[in-house]
Amino acid sequence: MIPSYHRPSKVIVDLDAIAFNLKNEKEKVGPSTDIFAVVKANGYGHGAIEVAKTAICAGASGLCVSNLDEALELRESGIQVPILVLSYVSLKYVPLAVEHQITLTATNLEWIQGLDDYLNGVLKIHLKIDTGMGRVGLTNPKEMMEAKKILTEHKWIDFEGIFTHMSKADSSDSHYFNQQKERFNDALLVLGKEVKYIHTSNSATALWHDAWESNLVRFGIAMYGLNPSGTELKPSFPLKQALTLETEIIHIKQMNDQEKIGYGATYEVKESEWIATLPIGYADGLRRSFQGFEVLVEGERYPIVGRICMDQLMIKVKHELPIGTKVTIFGLNDGLFNTIQSGAEYVDTINYEITCALTDRLPREYIK
Ligand SMILES: *Cc1c(COP(=O)(O)O)cnc(C)c1O
Repeated sequence: MIPSYHRPSKVIVDLDAIAFNLKNEKEKVGPSTDIFAVVKANGYGHGAIEVAKTAICAGASGLCVSNLDEALELRESGIQVPILVLSYVSLKYVPLAVEHQITLTATNLEWIQGLDDYLNGVLKIHLKIDTGMGRVGLTNPKEMMEAKKILTEHKWIDFEGIFTHMSKADSSDSHYFNQQKERFNDALLVLGKEVKYIHTSNSATALWHDAWESNLVRFGIAMYGLNPSGTELKPSFPLKQALTLETEIIHIKQMNDQEKIGYGATYEVKESEWIATLPIGYADGLRRSFQGFEVLVEGERYPIVGRICMDQLMIKVKHELPIGTKVTIFGLNDGLFNTIQSGAEYVDTINYEITCALTDRLPREYIK
């Protein structure tokens, strides 16, 4: 989708907030632990390239993405730090990864056994161990042994890392976390610890568990200033939300008693109400279940009324306001702040999904 620059709806990303969150984490982990900034899914909706450049300036020594295209986009923008693709990439694209010096994850033994046919230069590899996420990675010690043999002996393979992913690090109940930890320790007994990087930490693990064996943090959601646990656990340093979602009033009118608003005519005006229209809708990622959510205008909270349309929505305001009046959906407006977390709770999801859902139609504007 092409960004709509000639419309007032936009995502504003505060790069200082990204740098602030990353620097605090870097300070927390100290010089012996590297941080790879996770910028998959277009930087959780914030814009991968800008976030990546900011994170590198703030102390990240590498980047993580979820697939090869995301890695290539970063390389094409001139970024030269290590980039780790966190999941499976088909063997047929191995030469492309070699060419652009992109680090791949080995997610299963067959892939490792097939590598030889595709290697034409040095490929950096991190081996993924599945300790309880049930997604990708090796689980069987015999397979790990076989994997290690190939990865260490092949002349074109730089076996650089071993990692796992924790599925419950964002919870006060650490039972399952400890079980995963034990499984990873068992895997390390088989694999040894000679690789450059051993890593177990996403944001939640980094925030609420000790580093244990890990010398690299894959820092994602917390870099964007969002709490991976929602509200269950408190981070040890404040997180600054980087994303603001803003638009403007494009139409306003006083409506009379019993007049209806939106598809299905589900909202009925009582007596007389001022209704403003905003040029943003579910095609921008503001899903229909945000109906009723309160947005910010001149330091007041006003609800979305009627069903959200694809490109527009209506809000009920207290009095007439000029066309062009700023409306903040997430972020700061005259002393009031709408957190992404509050939006996530309103539509019964996690903060990650709210920012990732914001589509390309919304231009991204960067401030410092
Ligand atoms: C997305 C992802 C991360 C980052 O997780 P956050 O919760 O955003 O910090 C880390 N590791 C893997 C394997 C991931 O897929």
